[in-house]
Amino acid sequence: MSLETLEVMLRRQFEAADGRPLSFIFQGGEPLLAGFGFFARLVELVEELRSPSQPISLSVQTNGILIDDQWARLFADHNFLVGVSLDGSAALHNAYRVDLGGGGTHQRVLAGIQTLKTHRVAYNLLTVVQAVNVTHAAEVYRYLKDEIGATYLQFIPCVEVRDGKPIPASITPQQYTHFLEELFEQWMKEGYGKISIRLFDSITNALYNDQPGSCILEKACAKALVVEYNGDVYPCDFYVAEGELLGNFHTHTSAELMAAPVRLRLETEKGQLPEPCHTCRHQQLCYGGCPKYRHINGILGRGEADYFCPAFLALFDRLVPIASEFVARVLWNEASPLERTLLFGLAQLGKNGASGVTLSGLRRWLSESGERNSSSETELLFRPELLFRPELLFRIPSADQCQEALNALVARRVLTRSAQRFTFRNRVLPEWIERTVEEMLGNQALHT
Ligand code: SF4
Ligand code: SF4
Repeated sequence: MSLETLEVMLRRQFEAADGRPLSFIFQGGEPLLAGFGFFARLVELVEELRSPSQPISLSVQTNGILIDDQWARLFADHNFLVGVSLDGSAALHNAYRVDLGGGGTHQRVLAGIQTLKTHRVAYNLLTVVQAVNVTHAAEVYRYLKDEIGATYLQFIPCVEVRDGKPIPASITPQQYTHFLEELFEQWMKEGYGKISIRLFDSITNALYNDQPGSCILEKACAKALVVEYNGDVYPCDFYVAEGELLGNFHTHTSAELMAAPVRLRLETEKGQLPEPCHTCRHQQLCYGGCPKYRHINGILGRGEADYFCPAFLALFDRLVPIASEFVARVLWNEASPLERTLLFGLAQLGKNGASGVTLSGLRRWLSESGERNSSSETELLFRPELLFRPELLFRIPSADQCQEALNALVARRVLTRSAQRFTFRNRVLPEWIERTVEEMLGNQALHT
């Protein structure tokens, strides 16, 4: 990419963002081949174009072999997040990653990582799960964590089709299923969430706030633009191909590129779920996976679902119950007394099966319900003891408790009427809340 194209792209994107957060990720091929001067100019332009408080995130995905002190200083000074590709120990990594002389690059990658560490650059490791390392999940995980000392890991399964057949480095869905199972076991040995694995984090994020942070688990495909060296723009790096071109930054604004029919088509394609997903128990978490992997599955004559669907299903079945319990604790700890009351009320209403309760959703609903309901009804919701003491509804031992029982009924009615849109993904969160409240009631903690 020329400096001119870089500048045009940045100017267009900053203009469109108008002070909102922006994220730029440089990947290749090998992006550091663009040269140090390219990245020095990039950070200069970013400083020039950003508004004072605008959050900017800069990342680079590299094979690591060119990283020296000069690069590492630039990354540290400008808060780059550096993703380094490393597929495991030397034998596993060098199987597919060789330099121009034909030698494995493992040693040089390790030197690059060490330089990043010396300069305290934030880095993560990206491991391509390919035909050689796929049967060594535990070994790969232990190597990256114990030998390299990495705490942020990302695993990308490899499948590419040429002439109707998977290339030799490709893995099968069954291999990936076993890989994830073994990885999950190793990961759980550390304790839930101690090491960051992007896919596992994304599942937890989705359960927590409906924002997985990974396009494969989003409802729609990423709203990102992929820019080629000459300024051509595509909707996703899986869709850099003839017929998928959105336009070019030299001739189109960011808004025009975002509105291009090709991009809008891809965005909706993810939501057009293939038949096997219609009845899937994890549909609201996975949203059918990745359209590209569905396409590959079709070419290989394996059906319409995502090629890696069996691996997702097995992982979701294992991880979701544990992640849901973790999310329940976080939600409960972050919730205000009123929000806890509502969570408890919703848990008792007990609907499940759709997109899930989030704190941000609850907060939105609270502010809306303040506007919708009469003030006396809304006030009742601010009396947690009414919902925390369901016995008031059924046992009215004395006349002065009669009014409280009526209040409790009204509070419940408001909750029932207004909370139609809240459902639980599974029974873990409501059951956890009910258990917790029972313990609190037992300890009289609610009344102190
Ligand atoms: S896990 Fe499989 S069946 Fe379920 S939504 Fe995802 S791709 Fe579809
Ligand atoms: S096609 Fe796949 S990789 Fe591309 S944005 Fe959609 S889900 Fe993500």
